[in-house]
Amino acid sequence: MSETRHNWTKEEILEIYNKPFMELLYEAATVHREQHDPNVVQVSTLLSIKTGGCSEDCGYCPQAARYHTGVEGNDLMSVQQVKAQALRAKESGSSRVCMGAAWRNVKDGEEFDEVLEMVRTINKLDMEVCCTLGMITENQAQRLAEAGLYAYNHNLDSSEEYYKKVISTRGYQDRLDTIGNVRKTNVTVCSGGIIGMGENVEDRAGMLVALSTLSPQPESTPINALVAVEGTPLEDQKPVSIWEMVRMVAATRIVMPETQVRLSAGRTQMSREGQAMCFFAGANSIFAGDKLLTTPNPDVNEDMKMFEMLGLNPQKPFTKKVQPQTVEAQDSQLEALGEKPRWTRPEHTIERNESAKEKAKTLR
Ligand code: SF4
Repeated sequence: MSETRHNWTKEEILEIYNKPFMELLYEAATVHREQHDPNVVQVSTLLSIKTGGCSEDCGYCPQAARYHTGVEGNDLMSVQQVKAQALRAKESGSSRVCMGAAWRNVKDGEEFDEVLEMVRTINKLDMEVCCTLGMITENQAQRLAEAGLYAYNHNLDSSEEYYKKVISTRGYQDRLDTIGNVRKTNVTVCSGGIIGMGENVEDRAGMLVALSTLSPQPESTPINALVAVEGTPLEDQKPVSIWEMVRMVAATRIVMPETQVRLSAGRTQMSREGQAMCFFAGANSIFAGDKLLTTPNPDVNEDMKMFEMLGLNPQKPFTKKVQPQTVEAQDSQLEALGEKPRWTRPEHTIERNESAKEKAKTLR
């Protein structure tokens, strides 16, 4: 059985990433089989509970208010709307619902209380609940845990060096601190990144160093292929090849043997054969539904046909960890502290973000 190491170096990861393709695939598939059932893949549903109008400048994101991408923003969904969508997701084979809100960070108040109610509601449907709401404090993480949250997603996006070339409004350390806050609870950590943003292979290895040296490692790591959206600073990026995607999945699997590796954005650009190679290399989750937050995603029926063809079975909820208990709002032992943490704003200049912002002004 491969041991889980927390001292991977960039050089070691580069050596893995650059192995002859067949050797890399074989090694990753071997590690995968030691820890996971190779015929089981989790189907998750990503729900955008609050879309668009975000204050941040993430260069890949169509939800940033400063770019002109045509994404229609909406206010926070209601608990009933979320419940209806979660039930639909469950009926079509999803065992996990990930709720995303386009926020810089969580603020205590009515909207967060609503999100806590959504967490309670979905956990009571016996589905794993994940949230991605931006930076959070320890108290907020504890309140989410008490409501029955299974996982919190906060991606590192890239290496620390390349992160600075994509985002200027939040710092890498803040992201690590949020992950640290989640770790102080029994909520599992979901953290990964995006390839195809113009980073080099060293940056990809650098991101895997940052993730794999966390102790414990994240229980879940999404690997996204950039979907270049018109109007964002990264609109002209060429799609990554399937070979790069498979290499990234395989390297992630080898350095994080126990982690659930999630094939996330960019699946519409992949053939079934390409996705099959990713599953062989250790990916064991997909996101279902025709949209991934705001970008296109394969149809659920298409995914089910692919599962049938490959003999894959959807993973049951709470296979990796027991279901958390939900404490009702009236029985809560925790109070909102109304903290106003000073998350950093590095505000360095990223040329392409600035020009996308200026271009958007002329289009409005
Ligand atoms: S990735 Fe998240 S924080 Fe960044 S602009 Fe998009 S919604 Fe905002």
